[in-house]
Amino acid sequence: MFQRILVANRGEIALRVMRACREMGIQTVAVFSEADRGAHYLDSADEAFCIGNAPASDSYLDYKQIIAACEVGNVEAVHPGYGFLSENAAFAEMCRDCNIEFIGPHHEAMAKLGDKVSAREIAKSAKVPVVPGTEGLISDEAEAVKVAGEIGYPVLIKATAGGGGKGMRVARNEMNLKQGLKQAAQEAEKAFANPGVYLEKYIEAPRHVEVQVLADNHGNVVHLWERDCTMQRKHQKVVEESPAYALPNKVREEICKAAVRLVKTSGYTNAGTVEFLVDPDHNFYFIEVNARIQVEHPVSELVTGTDLVQWQIRVAAGEKLDLKQKQIPCNGSAIEIRINAEDPDNDFRGSPGTITKLRLPGGPGVRIDSHVHEGYRIPPYYDSLIGKLIVHRPTREQTIATTLRALDEFVVEGVKTTIPLARKILSHPAFVESKVDTTFIERTW
Ligand code: ADP
Repeated sequence: MFQRILVANRGEIALRVMRACREMGIQTVAVFSEADRGAHYLDSADEAFCIGNAPASDSYLDYKQIIAACEVGNVEAVHPGYGFLSENAAFAEMCRDCNIEFIGPHHEAMAKLGDKVSAREIAKSAKVPVVPGTEGLISDEAEAVKVAGEIGYPVLIKATAGGGGKGMRVARNEMNLKQGLKQAAQEAEKAFANPGVYLEKYIEAPRHVEVQVLADNHGNVVHLWERDCTMQRKHQKVVEESPAYALPNKVREEICKAAVRLVKTSGYTNAGTVEFLVDPDHNFYFIEVNARIQVEHPVSELVTGTDLVQWQIRVAAGEKLDLKQKQIPCNGSAIEIRINAEDPDNDFRGSPGTITKLRLPGGPGVRIDSHVHEGYRIPPYYDSLIGKLIVHRPTREQTIATTLRALDEFVVEGVKTTIPLARKILSHPAFVESKVDTTFIERTW
């Protein structure tokens, strides 16, 4: 097992990884930007190095600074968390070249699955259904018009390098398509330095269901059941839960098996998530793989009784998975609420500032993953997640009741947060009955 790991991230996920390491007797080295200097979560590391200025490109995305910190900090491995460099195959390769274990998949599997067009090819070869669409990248407008005519409008233009909803455009007719192609390619070039786009049929009123997988370096692959992340705003998840209450058991099992097949076919290792859309008739379609730990991993940890971050570390150190698929339970019901410092009255703009008062909920079934504290200054440079409320109870009804109770106890003053939106969602009959699709939040509010 590793003795010392560098955590190449910030905020709640950096703290989550440090907590896992502490329980395993592993020392941690934290890195921070000038904007995060003095944040209390850094005290949980054995050592911490400043790696640059506030903008992520000068710090958390700066490979060279991070590799240098690994060498000075004398670590054997690096945990990238999510976001930043976590799905950057070039960084993963550079770590391996420097003899530092990257806690995640091998860079080749990451590159293959990180590209959505090539991931679709792998899914097809693993006999996993994909959304109908173009075979590969779109080479010209005429081809796009032809394919859209074949699959039928509306279609979705997607960036092969996409993430965070960037480079995605719905086209309801040929004119939309022609305009959207250029815009999507430009947006993708700007965000990912890759203008490649392709078309998918736009699935109307879908649910988003994703499967947590875990694969070791010895050929063992298991799933840890599914999460329903249908509650989204602008294609960004807001509330996540496990199990996916609205799906018949047979469909849940088929989706989970499909995810394992895909992972086996691609040679992927470590923790990952295979994402699907499910249409109102319960047909499911692969959309993408997230080659990292995800924000919403705690709901799977709670229903299966596993520690995914510790497993990531164990697998990276070469350990065999001792989990047998049949023995992985899915107990009770878990819901995660993302608490963002955003202003619901102002189109959910980021609301950076100082937290003047903070009272965290507790009691039975409540877990808080957060790095913030009273007096904490939320920097304007990074994402707006200030914490996650995760609730686990025996039934979904109880989980919803406990989550609402915990949201009432949750006090954050000094900045605007998404707590009021979470309350509205959890008490809405459509959520309670699980009769929602990915457009629910925007349609309803
Ligand atoms: P990104 O990597 O940018 O997050 P994804 O492919 O994961 O993009 O899709 C994010 C969300 O966009 C999905 O959860 C869903 O709400 C919506 N979406 C993606 N593909 C489709 C599709 N073919 N039809 C309808 N909605 C889609």
